[in-house]
Amino acid sequence: MSDDCLNCGAKITSGGIIKAPNPRKSDADINFVNFIEGMSYPELCDKCGYDKILKARNRVHEAVGDLSDIIKQNIHFFPMFTSGMWGQIGPVKLIGMVTANVTVGTGFFNEFSQGISDIFGTINVDSGMASKVNSGEAAARAIVVNKAISLGANCVLAVDIDYGTTANNAATVNMQGTAAFIENIDNVLEAGSALRAKKLSNSIANMEITRGWLRGELIPTDETCSLRT
Ligand SMILES: [Zn+2]
Repeated sequence: MSDDCLNCGAKITSGGIIKAPNPRKSDADINFVNFIEGMSYPELCDKCGYDKILKARNRVHEAVGDLSDIIKQNIHFFPMFTSGMWGQIGPVKLIGMVTANVTVGTGFFNEFSQGISDIFGTINVDSGMASKVNSGEAAARAIVVNKAISLGANCVLAVDIDYGTTANNAATVNMQGTAAFIENIDNVLEAGSALRAKKLSNSIANMEITRGWLRGELIPTDETCSLRT
C-alpha cells in the first residue's frame, strides 16, 4: 500500500501535533460508495471520502423513507380475509396467529411498544370516536400485516375484529387472524387486487434489501440504478 490515497493523491497519515490525521477509509465504506454511486474508486481517504460516504448513506436513507411511504400508503392492499375456508383453492400453509391490541386515547397509540413505528411511522389521530376507531383499525391492521409479513405470510385468513371503549373514552380495537401462505394467491385474488398486493410485497422486499445496504449487504435491486443520478 502506498502512502498516498489512490483516489485523490492526498497523504495517508495518522496525524501529528499540528497536522490532522487523514486515514484510509475501510473496504466496507469504499464498497458501499462504489455500489451506491456506480463508481469504482480503488480507495478513499478521509479527505476525499468523507462527503462521498455521507452522501451515499443519505441517499439510501431517503430511498428507505420513500419505500416506507409507499408501503404505508398501500398497506391496506395486503390480502386479509374474514373467511378461513380455503381448502378448496389449493395448497395453503398456515403459519400462525397474529394479533393487535390498539388503544386510541388522546392522540396516543400504544402500538409503538409493538415495534412498528420504524416501518409505518406515526398515524395521525383526529378527535371524535368514529375517527378514533378508524385510526385504531388502520393501526391494528398495520400491526397485523407487519407481523404476518415478518413471518413470511402473503395473506391473513379468518380475520376477526372487536371494538370497545374504556372508561376514559378511549377506543380499543382488537384484531386477530391467521398468517398464511397461499401458493397460487394470484389466481384467487381479483386481478387489480393481485397487482396491488404484488406491488406492496415488492416494496416490502425492496425495503428490506435497501436497509441491508446500510449493513453492508450489497445486493442490487431495480432501485439501485435510480439512486445513481
Ligand atoms: Zn483520497
